[in-house]
Amino acid sequence: LCAEVPCGRLRRALKLDQGLDSFVSHRPILDNLSQIRKDGVEAFLDEQARCRELAQRLIAAYDAGRSKTLICTACALLPRRTVERIAARLEKGLRAGTLDAADRRGLARQLRLQLEAAASDLRIDLRLRRKKT
Ligand SMILES: [Zn+2]
Repeated sequence: LCAEVPCGRLRRALKLDQGLDSFVSHRPILDNLSQIRKDGVEAFLDEQARCRELAQRLIAAYDAGRSKTLICTACALLPRRTVERIAARLEKGLRAGTLDAADRRGLARQLRLQLEAAASDLRIDLRLRRKKT
């Protein structure tokens, strides 16, 4: 609701003048705010719920024990359509038999490679940012 976005209070809270902190869900916060201004908070919350459902679906289908952070980060930072296309591609591979449903580690690896490739194409960094000390 502030006239100036980001306002001084938000700039301080997000440490915008010192570089964003490493908390992943803080990274898209300015984009999220402009989306809320454009489409309203209900549409934004609906989209967030869809992203959470997508992450849960991917964890249930492809996590072999070490992919939760990557999946959650990808679903938070990549466009949902991009992640859905990757999920559809993997599901197609499973149906066609080019991917082995019993090979959980292989599936987790395929998902990781595809998420990382999509992030790289979009110049989105999925790693946590650490402050230089
Ligand atoms: Zn403000």
